[in-house]
Amino acid sequence: MGLRIYNSLSRELEEFTPLKDGHVSIYSCGPTVYDYIHIGNARTALVTDIIRRYFEYRGYNVKLVQNITDVDDKIIARANANGISPSQLAHANSQAYFDDTQRLGIQPADVHPRATEHIPEMIELIQTLIQKDAAYVVDGSVYYRVNAFKEYGKLSRRKPEDLLAGARVEVDERKEDPRDFDLWKAAKPGEPYWKSPWGNGRPGWHIECSSMAMKHLGETIDIHIGGEDLLFPHHENEIAQSELATGCTFARYWVHIAFLKIDGSRMGKSEKNFIFLRDALDKHPAEVIRHFLISAHYRHPLDYASDSLHTSESAIKRLTNCLQALKKIAETADSTQNQKSSDEDKCLMAAIQTMQTRFAEAMDTDFNTAQAMGTIFSLITQVNKSLMDPTEVSIKTLKKAYNVIRETSQILGIYSMDEKNVEDTFTYLKPLLELLLEIRQDARNKKDWDTSDRIRDRLKQINIEIQDSHDGSTWKLL
Ligand code: AMP
Ligand code: ZN
Repeated sequence: MGLRIYNSLSRELEEFTPLKDGHVSIYSCGPTVYDYIHIGNARTALVTDIIRRYFEYRGYNVKLVQNITDVDDKIIARANANGISPSQLAHANSQAYFDDTQRLGIQPADVHPRATEHIPEMIELIQTLIQKDAAYVVDGSVYYRVNAFKEYGKLSRRKPEDLLAGARVEVDERKEDPRDFDLWKAAKPGEPYWKSPWGNGRPGWHIECSSMAMKHLGETIDIHIGGEDLLFPHHENEIAQSELATGCTFARYWVHIAFLKIDGSRMGKSEKNFIFLRDALDKHPAEVIRHFLISAHYRHPLDYASDSLHTSESAIKRLTNCLQALKKIAETADSTQNQKSSDEDKCLMAAIQTMQTRFAEAMDTDFNTAQAMGTIFSLITQVNKSLMDPTEVSIKTLKKAYNVIRETSQILGIYSMDEKNVEDTFTYLKPLLELLLEIRQDARNKKDWDTSDRIRDRLKQINIEIQDSHDGSTWKLL
């Protein structure tokens, strides 16, 4: 049985087949950067990270794109309240987003497109929609004509009457139909704006994701991910815009992540019941927070309670203790002197094999991280039992248990291998890499692209990737 994904479009568990053999393209709706992210936002980012890691583990070549919404009403309002420009606020919070998610062990996406850097693509897409009679201009604003797309509502399965009452549909006399939505908003005094064929203005939220997804991943993408709140209207509108413009399927599988709740309500900024991820990370190791956030299947709501992270802390301690004990035995024992084939040994080997099968089954069934973690902890129970009398089990079997537990926990990111060694290596690696980046930057300033590319390519050969952005260059271990 292959990998199956619950597709919100068909509302069924479907066998996953990629558009292009061996490759998976994923678009995940990223943050609107008006503030730091809370642990609810982190759940969505983390599930995306695990889906990506699992595809990579299964040998797929993954291209993940996660946008940054850096122009929006909330950003403008917060920037005004703080007395800074919207772009300053968005810049600071997007950097904070990268810092916080990196601390949680989330690997950066392959591309993090910013809305403000894709305005020409958005204008082009809006022009195509106008040409196709699917959009109309009123007083410098452009609206999408929902009636033009016969399949409108196919994702949310809302009927026209429900749609009228739908979220984010504001009463606006200028619209032909109350369901129509903004593609381009005419500039209001004091707000950031860009030039367009319809006058100064800024893009609507939905068109941002359609254009950035199609620019970086093509007209049809394999998987589109987002929180459950985005299904309607955001994703419904993305489908309407993209499919009407291209005539192709926009996303083949739609994945929606359920909310993190606190006291029964959604954790959210407006509810003022949130915990910033950075505050949680100041108090708990990343692995503990990861363990908690994936302790329920992503389609089920997860409840945060004051003792949630303590429970995860005990689990991570159990995992770490077990791996450390196994590692010590594997390193110190002489395997030639221990070739047991006792019942205890056979029993442990069978438990390891069962666990491997069940772990793969759980992850293959719509990325069921809760069940997958369960298989790791059941094996730990078995290993701990065997370790009561380690002379009864062979070193080979214990080594196998060590490798399997370590590998599967690393797919979930709940165990960072040889933390001490990694830290030591970083102590030396960091200043060296900073020096190399500095030299490369000097070369780039002198337009010496050969040297710049040579440094980047040589580092890539030793699994260090340099990423260039407006704010400079950063590096990561691959
Ligand atoms: P926002 O910055 O509000 O646009 O949210 C960024 C991402 O986090 C979106 O995909 C939201 O659906 C998701 N999100 C927001 N609140 C929660 C929550 N309480 N639990 C899980 N995901 C959330
Ligand atoms: Zn989006």
